[in-house]
Amino acid sequence: MFIDTHAHLNFKAYNKNLEEVIDKAKKAGIEKIIIPGAKIDSSRKAVEISQKYTDCFATIGIHPHHVDEFTNLGERNVEEELNLLIKKEKTVAIGEIGLDYHEYKDYPPVSEENKKNQKQLLLFQIELAQKSDLPIIFHCRDAQDDQLELIQSCIQATQKDIRAVFHCFGGEKKHLKKVISLGFFVGFDGNITYPENIHLRNLISYAPLDRILLETDSPYLTPMPFRGKRNDPSLIAYVASCIANLHHKSIEEIAKTTLQNAIKLFLL
Ligand SMILES: [Zn+2]
Ligand SMILES: [Zn+2]
Repeated sequence: MFIDTHAHLNFKAYNKNLEEVIDKAKKAGIEKIIIPGAKIDSSRKAVEISQKYTDCFATIGIHPHHVDEFTNLGERNVEEELNLLIKKEKTVAIGEIGLDYHEYKDYPPVSEENKKNQKQLLLFQIELAQKSDLPIIFHCRDAQDDQLELIQSCIQATQKDIRAVFHCFGGEKKHLKKVISLGFFVGFDGNITYPENIHLRNLISYAPLDRILLETDSPYLTPMPFRGKRNDPSLIAYVASCIANLHHKSIEEIAKTTLQNAIKLFLL
């Protein structure tokens, strides 16, 4: 039995056969699926799916890619919208939220102004999580130092703990150490199976098993040997099996521990 703690079944890649995908996951032993929002409408969609399917749960928030939604609508309107979704019974976390300084193809480099807005959005959403006593799914790409510094100063300023996962972990060993020392979990996805990602597999060996969460980040990051096709939660065993090999454990043991970890973080 597995829990996929990160699958975007709310994205349009699943518009045509959501039911089938959820069914297939169930048959593959996926007990629960957490569906993260990336902006207001995909957060709303995540909530809708969670209301329809017993084994699906939602998280809500604005991803750094969509920081313009925050600057355009303004903090008050965004807060109002997100608060409506926070109250829903199967909303289990705020996310995915964070900083993303990666230079994407076809996109201009991230400007200083954009970074400033991303930080403001992140801070606002961390406070929202603290107020509503929900854990956080952190996204972070090429911004580990800034993000960890911001999180730490937030904990110091509010004197309130944060429960969280750094999903799709991609930092360096020093960042992993910091994330673990803050009491956070780390999520790993199908990209750990890609031949070139030796650095990620090295990191996994250092990550304590009681802090690892399994995720697929569907529809992205499809594990080998299906790389290039649309991902879905039923493929999570390929992620688990890679971790099992690196930690010299059975896949059953990885499934059991990561399931307990997810239950503990998201209070499922
Ligand atoms: Zn992400
Ligand atoms: Zn994601």
